[in-house]
Amino acid sequence: MTALRPADLVLRGGAVHTVDPARPRAQAVAVRGGRIVAVGTDADVGEHMGPRTRVVELRGRTLLPGFQDAHVHAVTAGLDRLRCDLRGADDADAYLARIVEYAAAQPERPWIVGGGWAMGAFPGGTPDRGLLDAVVPDRPVCLDNRDGHGVWVNSRALELAGIDRHTPDPHEGATALVERHVPQPTEEEWLASARLGQAELHRLGITAWQETSGYETDLGAYRTLAERGELTARVVVAQRWQRHAGPEQLDAFAARRDQSHVGRLRADRLKILLDGVLENFTGAMLEPYLDVHGSPTTNRGLLFLEPVLLREAVRRADGLGFHVHVHAIGDRAVREALDAFEAAGASNPARDRRHTIAHIQVIHPADLARFAALGVVANGQPYWAVHDRQMDELTIPFLGPERTGWQYPFGSLLRTGARLAFGSDWAVSTPNPLEEIEVAVRRVSPDDRHAAAFLPHERITLRAAVEAFTLGAAYVNGLDEETGTITAGKLADLAVLDRDLFAPGTLPADARVLLTLVEGAPVFEDPALEG
Ligand SMILES: [Zn+2]
Repeated sequence: MTALRPADLVLRGGAVHTVDPARPRAQAVAVRGGRIVAVGTDADVGEHMGPRTRVVELRGRTLLPGFQDAHVHAVTAGLDRLRCDLRGADDADAYLARIVEYAAAQPERPWIVGGGWAMGAFPGGTPDRGLLDAVVPDRPVCLDNRDGHGVWVNSRALELAGIDRHTPDPHEGATALVERHVPQPTEEEWLASARLGQAELHRLGITAWQETSGYETDLGAYRTLAERGELTARVVVAQRWQRHAGPEQLDAFAARRDQSHVGRLRADRLKILLDGVLENFTGAMLEPYLDVHGSPTTNRGLLFLEPVLLREAVRRADGLGFHVHVHAIGDRAVREALDAFEAAGASNPARDRRHTIAHIQVIHPADLARFAALGVVANGQPYWAVHDRQMDELTIPFLGPERTGWQYPFGSLLRTGARLAFGSDWAVSTPNPLEEIEVAVRRVSPDDRHAAAFLPHERITLRAAVEAFTLGAAYVNGLDEETGTITAGKLADLAVLDRDLFAPGTLPADARVLLTLVEGAPVFEDPALEG
């Protein structure tokens, strides 16, 4: 018998939640060469200790598989942070303070570019250029509205764009007159954005994700990081279907996929944006939206791809080995996506498919069981399943009571045997899985914990919510063979929390991550871990 080679790392004395049904709970884990070599009691891993083994005393805190995000825009979220980011400030004074601070910190930038302001912060919803001129008179400023449908600019920006009182009113195209003068991010800025996105997700215990922006800018940044050995996360990029081109675009995606298999990077997903959102009636519905009086209109929203083209795109992408990720909000979009997956499965040879439908805000009850039957992963963004202004004022009145009850049906999907994966859609919503898990479990926002639960029968257990953010997301990301559970032989992608997540009374959003490991190496570590 040969002596055991000692572990590089032992984590012991913890509440280890493995997400592995063969051994759901343990006390300790040993890691060697980037892999988990033992899971068990403190005594079990004791024999793996050597003189140079690092020991982390968990002191009853939870150890989980690293979180994975099934739908995130990490590079553009990083870009928001690199630019003048107004999110989180909530009135004009707070915006101006941020702008002054940013301009002072970035003296070399020719333009001040950023965004995130809300119309509600200004009288009549429209900010004035004079406010900006007073704080940044010498450089052009261009700041996007939070919903992306307007910009706030100063006089210098108007001057550079050649806009004055004689310019004809371009109505809807007004922002384009300025934006074509705004410098595009440089390659270095895209790289910096990807690094920022990666660092933020690691800070939150996330070790892998599916990137759903998937343009060449995002993918190129990841590829460069991977080539330089800087990509510590596992990133699976969903390349983005171009709405105004046909299936011939798949050849370029396949070539890019083959060039992007570098280090921890893969690009073998295809993202199709199938409809819009309910709040502006662009989500595709089976039955029309209601008007403000509750009467049916004739508007059933929009499908961005006609069903015939959608089926052709999915069938061909499936045949080329892509795993397709469809954005579907309304019940008509969900049904069309399921139909397209069903048709592709019937016409193409059998293979291991990880197709998914993301957002799934409204699912017709007749379609619920089709996810499990077709093997399509339900990809949910649980943070949205709450009573808030967007839901109560902009959604429920226009759906009516019956369809209101069909929203974010995570509990129902699990009862049909569907596979559930969770994601954040950051920067649309918080990237923090613990906040999202709290909503999945309570259907109440962590920001307003005394509010009424939204469709409480669709709540899921903490165990199921953690599984959707670990093994479920790993499955849709194609990483479940190597990650997603704490199992001997798998890669040591792990997260340590600051408390026992499963202790009675613990609210998940109160917990935070103290240590994130990728293949046993820390990619984030809080000093409080050893404190
Ligand atoms: Zn998204």
